[in-house]
Amino acid sequence: MYDLSVASWAERRARRTPHRTALVHRDSATCYSALYDRARRLARVLGDRGVGRGDRVAFLGPNQPAFFTAFFATGLLGAVFVPLNTRLAPPETAFVLADCGARLLLHTGPAPELPAPSPPPMLRLDTSGTVDPPDLAEPPAPSPAPAAAGPVSPETPCVVLYTSGTSGRPKGAVLTHANLTWNAVNVLVDTDLTAGEVALVAAPLFHAGALGMLALPVLLKGGTCVLMDAFDPGEAIRVIERHRVTAMFGVPTMYRRLADHPAWPRADLSSLRTPVCGGAPVPADLAAAYARRGLPLRWGYGLTEAGPGVLLAEAARADGAGADGPGADPAAALGGVPHMFTDVRVVRPDLTDAPPGETGELLARGPNVMAGYWRREPESAAAFASGWLRTGDAARAAPDGTVRVVDRVKEVIISGGENVYPAEVELALLRHPDVADCAVIGVPDPEWGEVGRAVLVAAAGSRLDPARVLASLSGRIAAYKIPRSAVVAPALPRNGAGKLDRRAVEAGYGAAAPDAQG
Ligand code: ATP
Repeated sequence: MYDLSVASWAERRARRTPHRTALVHRDSATCYSALYDRARRLARVLGDRGVGRGDRVAFLGPNQPAFFTAFFATGLLGAVFVPLNTRLAPPETAFVLADCGARLLLHTGPAPELPAPSPPPMLRLDTSGTVDPPDLAEPPAPSPAPAAAGPVSPETPCVVLYTSGTSGRPKGAVLTHANLTWNAVNVLVDTDLTAGEVALVAAPLFHAGALGMLALPVLLKGGTCVLMDAFDPGEAIRVIERHRVTAMFGVPTMYRRLADHPAWPRADLSSLRTPVCGGAPVPADLAAAYARRGLPLRWGYGLTEAGPGVLLAEAARADGAGADGPGADPAAALGGVPHMFTDVRVVRPDLTDAPPGETGELLARGPNVMAGYWRREPESAAAFASGWLRTGDAARAAPDGTVRVVDRVKEVIISGGENVYPAEVELALLRHPDVADCAVIGVPDPEWGEVGRAVLVAAAGSRLDPARVLASLSGRIAAYKIPRSAVVAPALPRNGAGKLDRRAVEAGYGAAAPDAQG
């Protein structure tokens, strides 16, 4: 079998462009041949510890070269890479590790403290992805048999990316080698990314956006990824100037924080050609601010389940005409066309096609779209309709084929690009003895896009203190999921079947409510 696996990219790049810089992190640069060597070395260590085909290897760490060493090492073994969200609380991390049945947890930095039962064995890596301390790289005796050799089929799982869901239980979207390859091909066909690209990878790599829309396409092409451990606007401006960054991917909150930074007005951003913005609705005033600066944001829409790219705004035309032309309305650029090898449909609730101009649910299909969630049959089946992925997003097509995402059908609050599923937060709130019922809704926020607000109903006889209830969530769910405010309600609107009427809660207690409290 011919090897098309993602790990084979590393090998092919090491052969074709060994001395070109693949990764830059702080003051150190890694060329393609060093990246491949490190990945092979780590693959040997993992193989000696019994990791083989199909085994899940979790990774916990910031955006550092170790991420890619571990990613390619896992791929070389035909094992499955599970990058963990570093913002999760320990019980949430433990859930994901148990759910995917991780054979090993690779981490940079101190070992995470995980609640029982039985976290997987852990192995610490330094920032480059070398086992730290090095003597741990020695296999435990007796050495288990090395993993089977031979190419990895493109249809086998490569990564599992966990997303939460309306059920409140995180589930892992399984992306195969083929999914990631086709997504990267889509991105390379639809952008002007070149082998000379210097890409700022500042959004977290454990999310599909930074990984699929930027880092993997750039590495496939032979360009350079400049890794930032975590996004910081002042540092990002310095990095853009110092490395003459040409491309980046960010959620709207990142672009907002860049534009609000004191260094922004005088920053030299002249090298930046491809600033892709997506992962959450892009406010028109933000697009306008960048357009005024001569830096039109490239609007993108996707979701983890699609690897993630689905729609991308067409590039500004060289003659200045089109959506980004002088005098054009920047809001007109907040829509896009499907990627080259991805098809979309906008459908009515009965799944028949909605005509242009009518809002309906967006469906997507293509070789980048996942086959399903990790060991979740019913949820996987429900994610598709006749082979089309149901995105849960509401969209509208224009007669010229441009699609705009206008609303959401699914229940999710997007705060700084992180998805917060109300059901998950509500389950955590209901565990507080003073809470009899609750709802979590999103309210607009200028910096984060949206933040959560809890609407709480007191248990009989309790003296409900909303601030203390919110504080009790700390350490149990990730900080970004904890609502920013809470209000007390006498009761929540529920329909006859007991289902929460979220629209009514939003009308009564959301930002537009007559006496909304912060
Ligand atoms: P990342 O994991 O990096 O945030 P992502 O946002 O593409 O990547 P998800 O976390 O799965 O992936 O979130 C997907 C959801 O985000 C979509 O279903 C949609 O609701 C929302 N979304 C993504 N891009 C846009 C956009 N450009 N406009 C509006 N909503 C968006």
